[in-house]
Amino acid sequence: SIDQAGEAVKAATAAFPAWSRTPIEKRQAIVNKIADALNANAAELARILTAEQGKPLPEAQGEIAWAEGYLRHTATMSLEMKVVQDDAAARVEVRRMPLGVVVGIVAWNFPMLLAAWKIGPALVAGNTIVIKPAPTTPAATLKLGALIKDIVPPGVINIIADDNDLGPYLTSHPAVAKVSFTGSVETGRKIMKSGADTLKRLTLELGGNDVAIVLDDVNVAEVAPKIFEAAMTNCGQVCIAAKRIYVQGAIYEEMAAALAAIAKDAVVDDGSKQGTRLGPLQNKAQYDKVRSLLDSARKQGGTVIGGETLDRPGYFLRPAIVKNVKEGTRIVDEEQFGPIAPLIRFEDDDDVVRRANATQYGLGGSVWSSNPARARKIAEQIEAGTVWINQHIAIGPHIPMAGAKQSGVGVEQGPEGLAEFTQVRVLSIAKSAA
Ligand code: NAD
Repeated sequence: SIDQAGEAVKAATAAFPAWSRTPIEKRQAIVNKIADALNANAAELARILTAEQGKPLPEAQGEIAWAEGYLRHTATMSLEMKVVQDDAAARVEVRRMPLGVVVGIVAWNFPMLLAAWKIGPALVAGNTIVIKPAPTTPAATLKLGALIKDIVPPGVINIIADDNDLGPYLTSHPAVAKVSFTGSVETGRKIMKSGADTLKRLTLELGGNDVAIVLDDVNVAEVAPKIFEAAMTNCGQVCIAAKRIYVQGAIYEEMAAALAAIAKDAVVDDGSKQGTRLGPLQNKAQYDKVRSLLDSARKQGGTVIGGETLDRPGYFLRPAIVKNVKEGTRIVDEEQFGPIAPLIRFEDDDDVVRRANATQYGLGGSVWSSNPARARKIAEQIEAGTVWINQHIAIGPHIPMAGAKQSGVGVEQGPEGLAEFTQVRVLSIAKSAA
């Protein structure tokens, strides 16, 4: 409820003075202890995650291990004071101070990982935090809260679940200094507006419509499974999944056939069953949206291979490969966030760059080729926060992740990401006597 959210902000506000003065080594140690708790309870957390989110158990185990790894890496980072001038005139020091109360709002695709992305840097930088998981995936995050309640001082981490109704309250609260948000572009815009009155610091990691550009010099048999993985991991519900697959004409049919064969073999089932490749879509709204995109692809002239719904309760959908679609169709222009790989034909390297960039999104993108120079030439022209060559969704705690264009504001991870949880404070001391 709003009252509980108010209590959470109050607790975070009360905890801030002591926490911000706690030496960074101690804050890092506590972040490491949270990582220990994830590690010690990984099996149970992964089971909860699969049950609430839908992803296959090995992917859930991977998410818990990732969350642990990100926390551990963040706990190695510190905020050194820099001396930017020290001469006869003055000594000028630049420090990075904590901001205060941070609100972390999380999407339902990676509840644990995304929470770790916010908790780690917020705490290391000396802030306190209120975390709000998505309404359809609060369970693992609340369990984490129970596991760390005696590890973290009271009020430093607060977790509050909602019915998709507390976002506006939290992101406009005058006591909140910063919002770190992962979710849709639309909600990102709302948060920017609701933080405007008090000029909140914002980090927004939003949606994407990543290209994977597959050049005609690749080994199709080797690349197809990697493209499938890039498009279908977590049932396609990944912000940086490959969502528009541009395939060069000479290998278009061969690549389509290879992807369709992999899709046909993929086991779609309950994520807790061994051998499941794709679990269900996470929630009904997403399931309905993805099915409507498939319908529109059929109506707009695309050839849909797969994409059948399973005759059983739950939001199960077989992976779909969509041929013969291009720009101007919904499945290409919109973010599907589901198990659909649209294949778009191209012929010319310059033309594909232009088409890849003709979008409001700019999260990631990849180029696939056996010719490094040719791949690099294209990659360097893609307007996105991350461009991969011969891989996709390769991220890490030491690598800054940013959304270009309307895919985001600011950076997460790396020293750049940690810096976003701080306020610059300059101390400038004249050398002449007072
Ligand atoms: P969403 O924006 O609907 O919800 C995300 C979170 O915002 C939820 O916790 C929700 O309760 C909360 N929220 C809803 N309305 C709010 C408001 N007015 N103010 C504040 N908070 C509010 O997004 P979703 O549909 O849950 O997630 C899917 C989207 O997230 C996709 O577009 C995907 O690409 C994006 N995403 C991006 C990243 C990234 O790092 N860039 C990662 C995962 C997901």
